[in-house]
Parts: sequence; structure tokens; C-alpha cells
Amino acid sequence: MKFAEVILPVPIPKSFCYSIPPMMDVAIVVGHRVLVEFGNRKMYTGIVSEIHDKHPDKYEPKPILEVLEVEPSVNPSQIKLWKWIADYYMCTIGEVLNVALPSGLKLSSQSYIQLHPHFIIQENLEILNDREFTLLSHLEKEQTIPYTQVGNIIQLKSPYKTIKDLIAKEAILLIEQIKEKYKPKMEKRIRLTEQYAENPESLDQLFEQLGKKAKQEDALLKYLTLVPVHEDHLSNYHGVAKKDFIHSGRALSPSSVGTMTKNGIFEEFERQIPRYELTASDKMQPTPQLSDAQNECLHKTIKGLEEKNVCLLHGVTGSGKTEIYLQLIQGVIQNGEQALFMIPEIALTSQLVRRLKVYFGDVLGIYHSKFSDNERVETWKGVQEGRFQVVVGTRSSLFLPFSDLSLIIVDEEHDSSYKAHDPAPRYQGRDLALVLAHFHHAKVVLGSATPSLESFYLAAKQKYAYAGLSERYGDAQLPEIKIIDIKSKRKQKKMKDDFSDDLLQTLHQTTEEGHQAILFQNRRGYSPYVTCNVCSWVPTCPSCNVNLTYHIYKNELRCHYCGHKEHVPNTCVSCGSTEIKTVGLGTQKVEEGLKDYLTDLRVGRLDLDTTRRKHSYEQILIDFEHGHIDVLVGTQMVTKGLDFSNVRVVGILDADRLLYFPDFRAHERAFQLLTQVSGRAGRRGEKGTVILQTTTPNETLFAKVARHDYRNFYRKEIAERQQYHYPPFTRLIKLTIRSEKQELTKESAQWLGNRLVNWLGRKRILGPQEPNINKIRNYFLSEILIKLERENFDLKKAKNYIHHAILQLKEEKNFKRVWVTIDVDPN
Ligand code: ADP
Ligand code: ZN
Ligand code: ZN
Repeated sequence: MKFAEVILPVPIPKSFCYSIPPMMDVAIVVGHRVLVEFGNRKMYTGIVSEIHDKHPDKYEPKPILEVLEVEPSVNPSQIKLWKWIADYYMCTIGEVLNVALPSGLKLSSQSYIQLHPHFIIQENLEILNDREFTLLSHLEKEQTIPYTQVGNIIQLKSPYKTIKDLIAKEAILLIEQIKEKYKPKMEKRIRLTEQYAENPESLDQLFEQLGKKAKQEDALLKYLTLVPVHEDHLSNYHGVAKKDFIHSGRALSPSSVGTMTKNGIFEEFERQIPRYELTASDKMQPTPQLSDAQNECLHKTIKGLEEKNVCLLHGVTGSGKTEIYLQLIQGVIQNGEQALFMIPEIALTSQLVRRLKVYFGDVLGIYHSKFSDNERVETWKGVQEGRFQVVVGTRSSLFLPFSDLSLIIVDEEHDSSYKAHDPAPRYQGRDLALVLAHFHHAKVVLGSATPSLESFYLAAKQKYAYAGLSERYGDAQLPEIKIIDIKSKRKQKKMKDDFSDDLLQTLHQTTEEGHQAILFQNRRGYSPYVTCNVCSWVPTCPSCNVNLTYHIYKNELRCHYCGHKEHVPNTCVSCGSTEIKTVGLGTQKVEEGLKDYLTDLRVGRLDLDTTRRKHSYEQILIDFEHGHIDVLVGTQMVTKGLDFSNVRVVGILDADRLLYFPDFRAHERAFQLLTQVSGRAGRRGEKGTVILQTTTPNETLFAKVARHDYRNFYRKEIAERQQYHYPPFTRLIKLTIRSEKQELTKESAQWLGNRLVNWLGRKRILGPQEPNINKIRNYFLSEILIKLERENFDLKKAKNYIHHAILQLKEEKNFKRVWVTIDVDPN
């Protein structure tokens, strides 16, 4: 007897053993998707992770019900990666599977009831009450009725409610119907039937017959021009797409085509087509010639990769790092291998894909979270079959089934969007790229104008190779950064609301000259809160401990943590006054303000609120690129990677806000954001201008941004990290404790903290401490930060302690309703 270990999408930290029935249609191998029963009649799609012949000691394994595919969807190196993630990020492998496998490859199941085949209603009338009789008669007609199960209770939609008795009377059966979610996209096509295609003379006869039926004759002629049947049977075999045939050129009447199909001249058939096609309109081009500086950098990178496998490509904004990546990818394609090009944000995909498809065409695949389930499955399959040799994607593309990966590029490697938050696994995409590459013996290029402290530190220690580009490509220069002191400007009456005269004048001038601008404000909505002018009352979220943000376009207050919405009150709830005013600056207010002061400008906005729909990113960016928008206002989405040649001016409305996050990375993030957003200005042609508004103009960090002085920023920052024992000198693990009662959260966090102090020592434990926002979605939060040494330290043992302490906490009677999440290397 053979057994299979199956990974299931459940939060239990192990795989589960199932027996392999001897007569399965397909020989089961590692990586197969299989259907199994788990727990109470629940069906799951699982992945086989191991095959062996050891019968489990403690239970009788259930059989695998079905193998869902011929070729396994997952390869062994992916399973190895999943195990690594579960281990390092301290979650279950089921949680990894849940995130790694696109939901289009999971099955959806629906439960139904059905009349029992041996039950005849007419013969059992005396044991049925009226309601049961009605239900069974209905079932007889409808065949099945869906039900839901909550615990042990089976529920139908009213009026039937429960059906326990009917099950006992063996009148009905419960069935589970399993559906594949992925649906290939099919196209209706049309071709000549064999009779005509293989026998040109019969076509001549046909023309004679059709003589008087002009429309049909037209259709036939048109078909023959599109598909020259006489020369090549094969082209007839593929036929033409029905919609093209009927709608292109002179329109044909669908009815005459229908008649011809009925008469056996044409036949319809279907063919699977890709959901996204990249080659369609563009001509392929050779990759661009590199400048001397780029060439030198490329060679340094290649040599560095040979020596150290990982190379940090540190090139200022606009230096042409992308073109260097292109050369590296080109090499990979020529070797018949695969490359992964990772980017931090979906916002960047559309522009990058437009740039890349002219070089790589149909070997280029795309993968990100705005893709539909079906599209993701197609990329998955394309990568598996080796059709896609290059994939552009966000962090989840690390989970694709690469077989021959030889290069990973992590562009904007410093970007915090590489870190996954909820649900587990809370992985860091850049770090995971290094692990994946290691498994594949592949190379990694980490690219950035503002490298993460971690990466620069490792390059400085020569663990990574380093290649730098200190000049922009071509004649372009780095922008001039002007620091504007808004406090003194306000005294001099040189401020219009949140805009300095300098900013407004610069915007006016640059748009007059036909150029564009980007304005950055890292807050969405209109104003971060509203308040009563008389008593200072501020509306807060009922479920979270935060102020509600005012959104002007729907005139409502919203919670950015749980999504709660409410109307803006006309009168103060606390004192009844009608003087409610807005406070603070969000992107909507920037947009509105600009329209007030510079009336002719066309203003666009890029933030979470304007990009929720699938193609909205793309549309806004295309409008900007085509010059339909003069000024683009946005949150951090506008700071990254975008390459618009006509942008001359960048405005940063409130640089201070970035500095005061209660986080050891606040300064690093601020430097990166400010440098990156400035980097959008003057990427081609004349030098650009950045207007940085602040109330603390003497802040040294701003001066470093203005001088484009990464190294000095690094030196100061790394010294502080060393002094206060923060990464990269230590490793952090953050525990978040949650419960519905503030007191309970506090007690349990204290309990857990004490346990950890006992085991790991006082100096390694910070907290427990309430975070700034101590209540989200009705859960009260507390945090414990664990600081562990990087060297000469048994990390595995420490992680075991942590797991153990959490398990013990959950076993305490008082703490049953407490939850703990673990975040390794938190952001
Ligand atoms: P980075 O990613 O380093 O910020 P990009 O790769 O976006 O910079 O390059 C900046 C601009 O310069 C882009 O518009 C790009 O097309 C152009 N560019 C860079 N290198 C070349 C090259 N070798 N040939 C032509 N254009 C280039
Ligand atoms: Zn009031
Ligand atoms: Zn809320």
C-alpha cells in the first residue's frame, strides 16, 4: 500500500497522510493536485508533497478521492520553497499553499441535496409531513437544491429550513459537487467543411450554385481571401475567428453565414485563446544600445554575479537601470532559460509591460493581484510549460512554477511593498527572491537608487557584488531640490492654504511651457479628520481607535482601517454646534485646491480611491502619458519607478509627516520616498525642479535628499542601527496579541511577555506595548518585539520557544479568546 502526504489549506502545522487507491487513473507523483476529504465531510484541493509506504501509527488514512490533473501543477522545488517559508516565517505550510496557489487552481465545492434513488415519494406518504412532501416533490422536479452547513446543522434556504429527519428517513442524499474554477477562454471560429476544403473543384460548383445568392457568394469570397484554401489545407483547418470574419472590412450578414453553416459549407468550432496577448499591435525591436557608463555597469554586474551570485545595482533615478536589466534578460532568453522581473507595485506593471513587450513579445508573462483568477492560471501554466521565459510581476510571482530560472531582478528593492502583511505568510519578497534563486542556482540583481540599509550593508561587507551608476542617462541631470519653509512663508503671507507661492508659480510656469508635474501627499481622502470648532469633538471609528477621514466626493467620513463609512454630521454630537471644520491635508484636498488656484489646469489623482477598479491605474497613467493631465496628484503610488519624459516639476506638500513615524525605519523610508519622488522630475531634456515644503527646513535628512547624497545618509543611519541594535545588526520578530477586551489583551500580552523573558532573556524582549492604534476592527492590540542576534545564535531554538510560548498561552483557560500573529522581519 502506498501513502501520500498531502498539504491542505488549513492552519494546522503539518501535512496529512492519505492512502493511494491502487486503481487511480493517473500515477500520483509529488506536486499533483488531489481531491481529499478532511474533517467533517469537507472537500479540499491539496498538493501531494511526498509519497511513501509507512502506514500512520495513530489513524486509518482516508483514500485520495481524485487526482485532478495529468501533469502536476506544482514542482518539487516549489514545495521546498513552501517548506522554507513555513519554517522561516513561522506559519503553517497550509497557509503558504493558500497564498502560493492561485485560487483558479483550487476547486470550489458546492453541497447539494438530492432525492435518494431508492426513495419513492408515493410509497412513503404516511411517513412524510406536509413540508417534507413539498420539499421532496420540488426535488423531484429540480433534481438538486444547494445547502450550506454550519457546524453540524444543514440549512436550506427557507421555507425548508432543516432536513435532519429526511436524512434519517433515507429520503435524500447529500452530495458534494466539485468544480474546477479555471475556465479557458474559447473563441468561436469558422472554417470550410472538409468536403469543400479538400476538393477545390467542388468550390467552383458551389460558386455556380450560389450565383443568385449574392450575400453567400460574398461570404465565400471573403473567406477565401482570408484563408487561401487552395494552397494549404492546414490554414483551412485553423479557419478564422467568427467575429473577425463577420465584422472586418465589408460587414457580412451573420444570417447568411448561419445559412451556409446549416447547408454544410462552413462549420463552426472553438479554440482556446490566451486571455492577454502582448504581441498584438507592436513591432518587435532590438533592445536599446547602452551608453558607455551603462555598458561598464553591465559588465561589472555580470562579473559580480559570477563571483557572488547577488549584485546590488545602485543607479540614480533615471540612470537607465531598466536598460541594463533588458540586456541581462536578453542573455537569459538566448540561453533558453527563465528570468523573473519583480516590481513592488501593480501601478508600475502597465508602463513597464508596455516598455518590455516590444523587446520580448510573447515570451513575456505578467502576474499580479489585479489579474483575474483565470489570467493568473494562464501565466502559471505558461511558466510551467516554459512558454513564458520572462515574467514581470509583484511579489506573488515568486510562487510561479519555474523550472529553469536563472535570473531574478528585484527592481526598487528597497520598497516596502515587497513585504506581505496579512494573511500569513508575512514574507519579504526581496529576501525570498534570494532564497528562490539559491534553490535554482540562479543569480539575483537588486536594483535601486536608494538601496535598503540591509542590502547596502551586505554590499559594503562584500557579501553582495556592487555596481553603480551615478549619472542620469543621456543629457538628463538630477533635479534641483528647493526646500521651502512653510512656517516663515505663512508669516510672510506667501502661502495659499497648503500651497506656497513658489510651488504655485512653478506649476503655473511649467504647465504654460507645456510640461507636466507630479504632486505628492501621502494621505488619501480630503482631510485626515474633522472637528467641532467649539468643543474640539472629533468623530472616530466605532470599531477602530482612529479618527475618520473626510472624503469630499461622497461627502462622507471613512475609516481607512476597517472601511466603515458614515455621513458627515451637520451638528456636533457633543455640543450641538454647527461649526464642523476639516483639518489636515489629503490628496483630494490637494486636487481641489489646485483647481481653485490654477483654474486652467487639468488635474488627475492616483491613489487607492481612484485605482480600485481593474484598469483604472492604467487609464490614469495613459492619460498622463498622453498629456491629458497636467498635474498628477497622488500618494506614494506616484513616487515609484514611473518614467514620464515630460515631467519637469515635482511638489512635495508636507515632507515632515514622513519623519515622525514611530518606527526605526522612518528616516530610511523618508529618504527613499523623497529621493524617489524627486527622481520623477526632469528625466529627459532640461533639468527638473523639486519643491519640498516643510516646517523644519534645517532637518539634515532633507539636505541629504537635496544633495542626492545617499552615502552620507547611509553612514549616519547604519551607525544608529548598530548603536541601538536594530536590523541589519539584529533580527526582529513581532508578536501581535489581539482580543475583544482591552484588559484581556493586556493580561495575555503580559503573560506571554513574561514567558518569553524567562526563556530568551530580558534584553531580547521589548514590550508588551500598545501600538499607536490600539484597536482595529473591534480587536484590542498589544505588541511584543523580539530582538535576536544575527550571529552565534540558535535561531531555530528561539523560534521553537516562541511557538511553544504561544501554544501554552492558548492552553490557558482565560486566554482561549486571544489570538497571536507572528511577523518575522517586520517592516
Ligand atoms: P531608472 O530605472 O534607472 O530610473 P530608466 O531605465 O527608466 O531609469 O531610464 C530613464 C530614461 O532614459 C528612460 O526613459 C529610458 O528609456 C532612457 N534610457 C536609458 N538608457 C537608455 C539607452 N541606453 N538608450 C535609450 N534610452 C535610454
Ligand atoms: Zn462640539
Ligand atoms: Zn475602523
